[in-house]
Amino acid sequence: MGQDVSLWTTPAPDALRVTPETTVAALDTRSTPGFTGDKKAGELLLVERGAVLSALQEKLYANGRSGDTRSVLLVLQGMDTSGKGGIVRHVIGQVDPQGVDHASFGVPTAEEKAHHYLWRIKNALPKGGQMGVFDRSHYEEVLVVRVHNLVPAEVWSTRYDEINAFEKELADSGTTIVKCAMFVSLDEQKARLTERLERPDKYWKFNPNDIDERLLWPAYQEAYQAVLDKTSTEHAPWHVIPADRKWFSRLAITELLIDALERLQLDWPPPDFDIEHEKQRLARA
Ligand code: ATP
Repeated sequence: MGQDVSLWTTPAPDALRVTPETTVAALDTRSTPGFTGDKKAGELLLVERGAVLSALQEKLYANGRSGDTRSVLLVLQGMDTSGKGGIVRHVIGQVDPQGVDHASFGVPTAEEKAHHYLWRIKNALPKGGQMGVFDRSHYEEVLVVRVHNLVPAEVWSTRYDEINAFEKELADSGTTIVKCAMFVSLDEQKARLTERLERPDKYWKFNPNDIDERLLWPAYQEAYQAVLDKTSTEHAPWHVIPADRKWFSRLAITELLIDALERLQLDWPPPDFDIEHEKQRLARA
């Protein structure tokens, strides 16, 4: 039996889109905006909606193979343990990997540092027909860079406008940008970091630096607030993803991607050959 999509009382894009009232410091990270189902219902629905996402993504890929230059770009930002990796594994993992352009952005390399900060971003943009996934992104340039004063305020403060202009150009050239900021509570983060220190299969995810960053949460909150206030635009709005419940963040981002793909109104590309002729040739072959 099909799962109940109507468990969304408000469609995910509307329920999660940033508004002028969005306040990072006041977010309920355990909430499930727009969704009335519980964990069981959410997990069952994810399987079903994952199949819908996969079918839409196949159409995007097929069109790309036929010359369509449009693409979708998922931008994931979030503090350590907010579940960005889980989105890649459990949401993007539902689609054909041939159609995915994945990129993650860590501390810039010497080569990257020698270029403008958008250089490495532009090099990683999805090609036509691809679904791009950025695990961290150009927003690090106004998050970690701002919090740690890696460049003077006069420099990072100009980047919001620059990023908006860059994304506008990207959207105008046919990339649908889906921006998700994932938030976990400090308590949930502590539980997840604790697990990483207790389970041999999780040690690899632990980075001692995560504890230092955690202590800077108030400064990060301010930096995230500025990002949401200054860079949520018509062409590239931000969505706030409460991420204490992993099942919800995965379902929510699946819905956001389905919505982005549906808005492209994709059809299967028409054949560039004569079907009857090819059938006859095949019959004789
Ligand atoms: P994650 O923390 O995302 O799971 P990780 O611990 O494996 O990943 P990397 O992906 O190698 O580490 O790097 C992530 C780190 O790089 C984060 O601490 C992030 O803030 C930092 N970073 C990303 N972009 C920049 C930048 N432009 N300048 C400085 N630091 C950056």
